Amino acid sequence: MGSFMQQALDEAVEAGGRGEVPIGAVIVHEGRVIARAGNRVEELADPTAHAELLAIREAARILDSPRLIGCDLYVTLEPCPMCAAAISFARIRRLYFGAYDPKGGGVDHGPHIFEQPTCHHRPEVVGGIEESRAGELLRSFSRMRYRMQPIRALDGAGPASAGHVRSSATGSARDGSLAITRGSVEKNISPRTWLFRRGRLPLAHPAAADGRRSWKSRTYAHRRPVMRDLHVRGRR
Ligand SMILES: [Zn+2]
Repeated sequence: MGSFMQQALDEAVEAGGRGEVPIGAVIVHEGRVIARAGNRVEELADPTAHAELLAIREAARILDSPRLIGCDLYVTLEPCPMCAAAISFARIRRLYFGAYDPKGGGVDHGPHIFEQPTCHHRPEVVGGIEESRAGELLRSFSRMRYRMQPIRALDGAGPASAGHVRSSATGSARDGSLAITRGSVEKNISPRTWLFRRGRLPLAHPAAADGRRSWKSRTYAHRRPVMRDLHVRGRR
């Protein structure tokens, strides 16, 4: 059992190396691993590309059946509601997961999917396996993401220097700001401009909208007409 969770942890580490949230999963059938996957949400630009779903799809393909009878799933984090429902649909026999996820979990938290009367297959569930290692992976990822806040909080948070952007591009953990980072670096434009051209920045700085004068609105006052031009051009 331990080695199966170890393989899931390996997948999680690899996912982290690809800039994904580090979560990994393996599916075991008759004592051997038939599918393993890491989270690929960013890479595939697919909000459903969670490790569990990718592993379930792979296992179903290999067994040539939509029902994974007798299969056990090992995943490093408590599955979200979407994956918990998929685990039920797939008829997974046992679910082993690592860290508990009070914020996003759907098994022991949130909707408690397997306890719902609308859930027609309940796997045996064992949580907290290698919890500390699975949790530490995610915590180190969160710390990386926290360092990238200057970019993520760009909208209305004042200027983000090119230095912030460049340094995050070389960091190993990236999340939703990956595209912003890439665009900023490759095209050598400011992150604000990048966001603005894609209609993700408001027309004027929020501080200016309600009449307040902050250092931010002063800083950007001279730039605002340029930004507005860009915005209008983008809309045509
Ligand atoms: Zn999920």
